[in-house]
Amino acid sequence: MEETYQKEALLYKDKVSGRCDNCNSSYFKSSVKGGVFLRKCQGCGVKKSI
Ligand SMILES: [Zn+2]
Repeated sequence: MEETYQKEALLYKDKVSGRCDNCNSSYFKSSVKGGVFLRKCQGCGVKKSI
């Protein structure tokens, strides 16, 4: 499940660099999972690999 989610996340690109596409927040919490750098929006909770 997690793997599929990460592949979907790879399709995203920032509309505005450094901002969440969904809520336009610039607050993120970053983590590394399985060698993939994940960024979680603190506004809406959307995860994205960067
Ligand atoms: Zn967001």
